[in-house]
Amino acid sequence: MEEVADKVAYENNKLHKRLCRLVGQAIGDFNMIEDGDKVMVCLSGGKDSYALLDILMTLRERAPIKFELVAVNLDQKQPNFPADILPAYLEKLGIPFHIENQDTYSIVKRLIPEGKTTCSLCSRLRRGILYRVADGLGCNKIALGHHRDDILETFFLNMFFGGKLKGMPAKLVSDDGKHMVIRPMAYVKEADTTRYAEVKGFPIIPCDLCGSQENLQRKQIKNMMREWDKKHPGRCENIFSSLSTVVPSHLMDRELFGFTDLKTDGVANPLGDIAFDEEPCSTPVAGLGTITLQRE
Ligand code: SF4
Repeated sequence: MEEVADKVAYENNKLHKRLCRLVGQAIGDFNMIEDGDKVMVCLSGGKDSYALLDILMTLRERAPIKFELVAVNLDQKQPNFPADILPAYLEKLGIPFHIENQDTYSIVKRLIPEGKTTCSLCSRLRRGILYRVADGLGCNKIALGHHRDDILETFFLNMFFGGKLKGMPAKLVSDDGKHMVIRPMAYVKEADTTRYAEVKGFPIIPCDLCGSQENLQRKQIKNMMREWDKKHPGRCENIFSSLSTVVPSHLMDRELFGFTDLKTDGVANPLGDIAFDEEPCSTPVAGLGTITLQRE
């Protein structure tokens, strides 16, 4: 019995370490947090945002730089929203926080006809409010709890239904040009935040209080990725890593690569066209360079 408990504690500790490592790595890779930053951590009450806050608090204690964290929740006045859960949790944590009360629920219900999806207006309203709150609190960064699977889902949604090769950025200036939005959990798998939430016993607030149905396209993508994870382990990891290994010359965006003005320069380039050869799809074999065939 004791052995089982030890094993569980060992696994949980490993999970915590993995989350800290991946979040720290993403922060470093994208220079997300700098000395003197005041970071607004958006806390929805879902597992991912709780995990984000928890890990950022751990990393702040260990970081060689100084930065502040402020947790912010937007109470959108959805029916049965348990308004006391987050303040109680945050007071116990001893972290500065702000609860913004704005009845976007009524606005959305008034403007969107019954049966139509409400998420796009709802999130637009939420975004504007959060930007204002960040200004009011003097926060120069806004941290969101999106993880690796959210990024992949967005990538597939844009590709399958929007005809665009576009994911969800780990760090980007907001659409109003005034805020730096960061996603420190960009490298973390959803399965890990789910497990971490169980281990930590976060007081999760359900996300379907508004009564909105999950977007069907997103549902389709989620199912596809779940199937891949079962039948083709490693595929999602490879696709995710491809997002940071982009070769514009081998795509077809004429804005991204100057195809129209392209000239030969006589200099061998391993990234050049390899004609009928198959593209290598795994790690290159050591010692095998580019083979150049000379015409007779
Ligand atoms: S699920 Fe509800 S609360 Fe969430 S974005 Fe959609 S309408 Fe808004």
